[in-house]
Amino acid sequence: LSDTQRKIIEDSIRDIKDFPKPGIVFKDITTLLNNKEAYGVLMNHLYERYKEYDLDYIAGIDARGFIFGAALAQMLGLGFVPIRKQGKLPYTTISEKYALEYGVDEIEVHIDAFGEKKGARVLVIDDLIATGGTANAAATLVNQTGAECVECCFVIGLTFLDGIEKLKEKTKVYSLIEV
Ligand code: AMP
Repeated sequence: LSDTQRKIIEDSIRDIKDFPKPGIVFKDITTLLNNKEAYGVLMNHLYERYKEYDLDYIAGIDARGFIFGAALAQMLGLGFVPIRKQGKLPYTTISEKYALEYGVDEIEVHIDAFGEKKGARVLVIDDLIATGGTANAAATLVNQTGAECVECCFVIGLTFLDGIEKLKEKTKVYSLIEV
């Protein structure tokens, strides 16, 4: 990624102060998605990075991870798997709870999502990593199905939290724009 390309992506992401609650700066990627140049530069970069990875599936985290993940899967000629918030998937699931600032959340994946044979190579993707709790649970789920989480990929990594460092103890981590 050239400096110019990185800047095109960076400049397309909008900061929304105090959303969804006071003190949070929300990274709004809708302004990246509706910018055809930025979205194109991003997706082409991800395609170039991951075409050599010998992946079997792309797994996207609910909900913004679906947008990047489904597009990337199609570009790479791979299947896409949604990792969803609890209660949304219709077939048999396995689920994993993770801690939030206050309380717990839970994500799920279909038990057969990564096919019959073990060891499918899976890339997990989301828009952003903060504490890393969500991605950590997602990587755990992938591995519990018998597949292998090869890497977790994020458009944005918040570096003032130690989410990336903690997740690196479990799997490889790639974040494009570090803030
Ligand atoms: P975490 O589990 O703390 O790493 O949080 C990551 C999840 O929450 C991702 O699915 C993000 O989309 C969302 N998220 C957390 N913080 C932000 C933020 N500042 N801006 C946008 N999305 C966020």
